[in-house]
Amino acid sequence: MTNPLFDAIFAPLASRADDLLILPERGAMSGQAFLALVARQAHALRQAELGAGDRIAVQVAKSPEALAVYGAAVALGAVFLPLNTAYTADEVDYFVGNATPRILLCDGAKASALQGVADRHGARLLTLDADGTGSLSDAARGMPDRIDPEPRGAEDLAALLYTSGTTGRSKGAMLTHRNLLSNAQVLVDLWRFTKADVLLHALPIFHTHGLFVASNVSLLSGGRMIFLPGFDAGQVIGLLPQATAMMGVPTFYTRLLDDPRLTRDLVGHMRLFVSGSAPLLAETHERFEARTGHRILERYGMTETNMNTSNPYDGERRAGTVGFPLPGVEVRIVAEGHEVATGEVGMIEVRGPNVFQGYWQMPEKTAEEMRADGFFITGDLGMRDADGYIHIVGRAKDLVITGGYNVYPKEVELLLDEVEGVAESAVIGLPHPDFGEAVFAVLARAKGAALEADAALAAIRDRLARFKQPKGAVVVDDLPRNTMGKVQKALLRDTYKDWFTR
Ligand code: AMP
Repeated sequence: MTNPLFDAIFAPLASRADDLLILPERGAMSGQAFLALVARQAHALRQAELGAGDRIAVQVAKSPEALAVYGAAVALGAVFLPLNTAYTADEVDYFVGNATPRILLCDGAKASALQGVADRHGARLLTLDADGTGSLSDAARGMPDRIDPEPRGAEDLAALLYTSGTTGRSKGAMLTHRNLLSNAQVLVDLWRFTKADVLLHALPIFHTHGLFVASNVSLLSGGRMIFLPGFDAGQVIGLLPQATAMMGVPTFYTRLLDDPRLTRDLVGHMRLFVSGSAPLLAETHERFEARTGHRILERYGMTETNMNTSNPYDGERRAGTVGFPLPGVEVRIVAEGHEVATGEVGMIEVRGPNVFQGYWQMPEKTAEEMRADGFFITGDLGMRDADGYIHIVGRAKDLVITGGYNVYPKEVELLLDEVEGVAESAVIGLPHPDFGEAVFAVLARAKGAALEADAALAAIRDRLARFKQPKGAVVVDDLPRNTMGKVQKALLRDTYKDWFTR
């Protein structure tokens, strides 16, 4: 028996004496050195009693050592459970209580706050600091730098990734070797990654985008990564000349565009820019092309499914769309139990080897979101246009139902975004005494612009049916976003919840 992920992604590093990770602060690390690190950590974790099927919860800064823990967990047949570094001890307590990992790995600075969490749920606490030191590295020192991976099947779990849980508690998405590997293989092929590629990696690795889309794809293709602890526009601009590809969230692109050093010359040699995790405004797509000559390739995925759709590599990359279903992935758009016609909005459902196995210890939640025929109900509303491109209209839970009518926030946002002085907008539903919910707009002002909420609403009045028109609006400097660049609509709904009822 084999270990599918380890064999495909980590084992081939044994023949790579060349650089794998380019680390601006620390030089470079060869594939062989990285694999040896994986092996030493795996031996240390085995000694700490991490076995096949056990979970290891990891809340640490991004570093080569942190990425190696993923490899070590895979080698041991364990289940890797990365956690957002922003989570507080109380939040971590929930995840550890739910997943009951054998090991909780955290930054040394958080050890005293998390010791109680580990004790309460029977986990062993180990540390790993941003500079690669800590009790895990101490235990790994002197361990053998080779490891025979634990045999695993394609259906065995490799990772448990918690959803961001903006409504209700986060749920642990169970991802198998097949889920992760099949998706990485498809993306390497579709996006033409080869060993000649140097991926600029500035995404966090506690999320599916940076961990699986970026890291797995690069590792599988035999390429290199410029592995940065986070995104800093100035640093990225300095390093782009060494890269061939970059993956980012939309905010990476808007921040790069804010910097006049982003020019056609700077990125003329680049092969590919990918965006995902949140909608890329068509305007950003167009401005990026005008400035650099590159059309950003937008794709769509989620924690539970890895990637589902992508704009084409060769064909037209259509702004404001997420392209076509990936090979092997089926996408259908459903309303009232039937697939909708072209151009109509419905719930996006997906089926394929990428789709997770269900939510950890929440069979009833899994049953609510998984159809009997294997399609997963994504919670995203979408539409397929006449050319087959899929458009994401928004999360179903963000749909506004006002006086019995459905309003898709995206439709209103697209119009508001065109108004002079509006940088971007978020449309939400707020409790309203007459309509149940009323449409409300939060407008982010363009830098230096004078913007009046009422004037902005007046500007779109003729272009929208009355029930879709926002009944109130505020102007803010920036929309609140999480680390993955998603606008936090739940937070906005909470902030303005009394607007129409006070
Ligand atoms: P997460 O599980 O944190 O990766 O979030 C997944 C959600 O992000 C999806 O269900 C979508 O709502 C959203 N998302 C991801 N990619 C895109 C995209 N390209 N355009 C619009 N929304 C996206």
